[in-house]
Amino acid sequence: MFGKNPARAQEHTDGLQLWVQEVFYTLQGEGPFIGQPAVFVRLAGCNLVCTWCDTEFESSTWRPSLDELLLDIDAKRQAGCDLVVLTGGEPFRQNVVPLIQALLAKGMRVQFETNGSLWLDDMPLDDNLFIICSPKTKNLHDDILPRISAYKYVLAAGEVDADDGLPVTSTQKVGQACRLARPVGDVPVYVSPRDDYDTHKNAANMALCRDVALKHGYRMTIQLHKMIGVA
Ligand code: SF4
Repeated sequence: MFGKNPARAQEHTDGLQLWVQEVFYTLQGEGPFIGQPAVFVRLAGCNLVCTWCDTEFESSTWRPSLDELLLDIDAKRQAGCDLVVLTGGEPFRQNVVPLIQALLAKGMRVQFETNGSLWLDDMPLDDNLFIICSPKTKNLHDDILPRISAYKYVLAAGEVDADDGLPVTSTQKVGQACRLARPVGDVPVYVSPRDDYDTHKNAANMALCRDVALKHGYRMTIQLHKMIGVA
């Protein structure tokens, strides 16, 4: 969206109908489940407006019922795939609790990708629910902190703290300083290079990630899906 999307507030519904951008089957390209086949459910709308965000999450008019959405996930899932990735936009913006409960009840693993600024009180506690937080703001919602399975940071050269290697530049305003929320607790930290759509900048971002991961013990992932030409 490259900072062009409206900032949409959290909705309080029964979660039996969701605004969905797309559902697709692919290989997870980042984070703890990199390389694993997964059905991605991209929830529409976001509460933040990140200047470099290259994801489309506003153009859909599809508002499936929960049952319709579950059928679509099953139709796209291949045998042997038990991973569903809920992403966005910001999936916490809508009431995704019934969807998560239904997926867990079917024996699926659910990876939930969030910017961590919102929370839903009824989020299930389940060993097969993995909350991956990629902070884009100075503070995270207090209630999400004990539930985070891993942190994920997108790094760009010249925009990180020399002490911890993590971002110090605002995601919302170009060139403005902002120390993004730092990891809390002993959970894995993943770093990946920002895609600036510029060969030289991307090379610098890649080198930065490598050095930061080596120095601080983070785990580096690259956007595998872009390299192998899948969504
Ligand atoms: S929080 Fe994520 S989806 Fe939302 S605008 Fe920022 S990068 Fe894009």
